[in-house]
Amino acid sequence: MDIQPKLIVFSAPSGAGKTTLVRHLLGIEDLNLAFSISAASREARAGEVDGEDYYFLGIPEFKKRIKANDFIEFEEVYQDQFYGTLKTEVERLWAQGKNVIFDIDVVGGLRLKKKFPDRTIAIFVKPPSINELQIRLKSRKTESPEKIAMRVAKASTEMATAPQFDIIIENDDLDAAKLRAEQVVRGFINKKVRSEF
Ligand code: 5GP
Repeated sequence: MDIQPKLIVFSAPSGAGKTTLVRHLLGIEDLNLAFSISAASREARAGEVDGEDYYFLGIPEFKKRIKANDFIEFEEVYQDQFYGTLKTEVERLWAQGKNVIFDIDVVGGLRLKKKFPDRTIAIFVKPPSINELQIRLKSRKTESPEKIAMRVAKASTEMATAPQFDIIIENDDLDAAKLRAEQVVRGFINKKVRSEF
């Protein structure tokens, strides 16, 4: 049995540090990871690049793609803010023989796990506390106070989903979290699984 390309899912409340962990892992060459660029209905923030950070579709186009059944999973993560994984994106990266790494919300993460149970490891990144999360989001200065409040309010519900994930990584010490993430991902991608296709 061959080693099949895998899906590595990182989910967490906004501000928990999952993006930092994902970026760290992408820098480790022998893990052979490629980032799944999600589609988003929102506008690009300063510094974000279309086709690198997200495929910025806008709401009408995003809805059109939902109707066309183009997504493996999608979610209205915040009101009127849609995010989703395009089938073509995962196919593109698997065609390159890459393990695909995702930075997606908890619902999307668990959905991917359900679709590809053997090929997927679903990792939940846990912030030290909701309070700490709020501090991190404020210092990031990428969102308005209303949007920060929305994200913090959602965080408690998201935290409750942690037990459904394969692994929980506590992110109170970033270096330790990076090491743990590397160890977990390395172990998983070296594991043989049966093909689900
Ligand atoms: P942001 O607007 O801060 O870039 O992302 C907001 C949230 O959407 C984050 O929790 C992020 O993980 C999630 N997200 C990004 N891409 C996807 C996706 O393809 N599917 C789902 N379900 N969530 C996503």
